Amino acid sequence: MIMRIYYVWPCFPSVSMSGPHCSLDCVHCNRRYLSNMIPATTPETLVDLATELEKKGARGLLLSGGCDKKGRILNLQKLLPAIKRIKRETDLILKLHTGIVDREVAEGIVEAEVDVASMEFVGADESVHEIFGLNFGVEGYLRTFVNLSEAGMGYISPHVVVGLHFGGLLGEFNALNLIKKHIDPDTLVIIVFRPTRGTSLEHLPAPLAKDVGRVTAHARKLFPEKRILLGSLRPRISGRSEGDRNTRLEIELAALNNGMNAIEVPSPMLLRVLKERGYRLKRIEAYGVLPEDYEERIGYEWV
Ligand code: SF4
Repeated sequence: MIMRIYYVWPCFPSVSMSGPHCSLDCVHCNRRYLSNMIPATTPETLVDLATELEKKGARGLLLSGGCDKKGRILNLQKLLPAIKRIKRETDLILKLHTGIVDREVAEGIVEAEVDVASMEFVGADESVHEIFGLNFGVEGYLRTFVNLSEAGMGYISPHVVVGLHFGGLLGEFNALNLIKKHIDPDTLVIIVFRPTRGTSLEHLPAPLAKDVGRVTAHARKLFPEKRILLGSLRPRISGRSEGDRNTRLEIELAALNNGMNAIEVPSPMLLRVLKERGYRLKRIEAYGVLPEDYEERIGYEWV
């Protein structure tokens, strides 16, 4: 049995194409996620930053950023020619968090030679409205993925967020069912709502480990052959409230026991469990959506 284990930092840094700006105020984030990204908001700064990061040892970038009121990544369209220049002038592998895209932008992303397109797939209208504050529903997410797929995007990696709806399950199974019906993902990414300091949800308990297990099991049932990755965005500490007994390891084990075959930034305890269970660990310094075809180029180590 093989388990791919990914270490994202320092070779695959994250860049915000909107700097600290975002027109949405999603209740689980409150723009906090952008504070960990390197800003680059103009074509010149983006190309210069990418060149400089490659010189310093980066192998790829995550391009992301805040959104406008319709869920579209700010500055994306303006920066597509710069993204194409980066692909032409460097060897960087680019993962783009696309935001909501129409067919024209999806074609622009393919034309820019982005390597991997990723985006959360929200499966309940209530979550789209109440968590993201957007005025459309699930169909906006579905259209985005269909647009990317029909535009010819080679590697598409949808993210399903366990506990997105205030910590409980709501649209996760529907999201997986829609992915199965409409697109052919390269990697399915399971991430887990993390109560984040500085947001109105910071005091909520983390989602239950058993819910992570249920969603992973459904994903594995629908996609028996795919890579199912537990992403780095998940609670990494014990729960804060009494009765919330989720620990990093419990969430990791729930995913493992239900079909996960790849993980970003595993805990040392999980590594011990994997060894005891006889897994061969393929250690890769990259984000977990790196297409398997790219592994020889990036290099890996059996540990
Ligand atoms: S759009 Fe992204 S950056 Fe903006 S608040 Fe929502 S999750 Fe945070």
